[in-house]
Amino acid sequence: MTQIIDGKKISQDIKDELKAEVAELKKTGREICLAVVQVGKDPASCVYVNNKKKACAYVGIRSEAYELPETAAEEELLVLVEQLNKDSAVNGILVQLPLPAHMDADKVIRTISPDKDVDGFHPVSVGRLWLGEKGFLSCTPAGIIELLKRSGISIAGKRCVIVGRSNIVGKPMAALLLRENATVTIAHSHTRDLKEVTKCADILIAAVGRRQMIDDSYIKDGAVVIDVGMHRNDQNKLCGDVDFDKVKEKASAITPVPGGVGPMTIAMLMNNCVETAR
Ligand code: NDP
Repeated sequence: MTQIIDGKKISQDIKDELKAEVAELKKTGREICLAVVQVGKDPASCVYVNNKKKACAYVGIRSEAYELPETAAEEELLVLVEQLNKDSAVNGILVQLPLPAHMDADKVIRTISPDKDVDGFHPVSVGRLWLGEKGFLSCTPAGIIELLKRSGISIAGKRCVIVGRSNIVGKPMAALLLRENATVTIAHSHTRDLKEVTKCADILIAAVGRRQMIDDSYIKDGAVVIDVGMHRNDQNKLCGDVDFDKVKEKASAITPVPGGVGPMTIAMLMNNCVETAR
């Protein structure tokens, strides 16, 4: 029987644990505050920002919303981030991406204090991750490690293949798997004989951004398959980078879309916010 990894339940468990921890922190007078900055009204960003605010409310974290118009100058955003850096009542700063084209997202991320970088995107956070030092972890890859651990899937010694090398998923995923003592391969659009590479994987992470590209011909029998992708199919239903119906026949465990990796990202964001107070 293929194990369907239940990200919805695991993320709920994590949020409940964090809620209890936050309640204990409150008893000692510690309040946690997340500043959520949004530029413009991109519909997808609005949904993500709302979900983050809801999760904050559930866990007991205060969220402060800062909304700038689509036409705001980059300088205006940088000044706001600097102010939030200095504000001792603000523990975490999140700037919702993507930003409008006239803004340099890298510059904005670098302006966030590494001590408040709850998305884990700042170069200092990335450096700490690769050096094995304590710091904020990129939320989606950190969520995948939790999914594996809480589903009883061991990582040490396993061959892990990640398809995708983005700064927010593929690369930090590799660092985290390495930290868990896996043997890690990163594949990308220049990888030759991709199927030969992916078929070596005990654990395959699909973060390729191509709708249902990974079918059963990419995996070996009994592999664990984690689907990071997020797309809409022709019926407008959510689906992933993996062809779930085909792959589930061959995999030993698999994450569905929706209800797999997606809910974990917000749960790990909440964990990073609580980390600021630990
Ligand atoms: P990017 O587009 O930034 O990166 C995609 C990566 O896949 C690149 O490294 C690219 O290679 C590689 N790639 C593209 N085509 C191929 C191919 N044919 N063969 C091999 N490699 C290929 O995507 P993200 O990492 O930002 O996101 C990946 C997916 O995850 C998306 O569907 C996104 O929506 C989803 N996502 C979901 C999240 C969640 O919370 N569930 C969070 C973040 C992302 P190259 O570098 O050579 O171009």
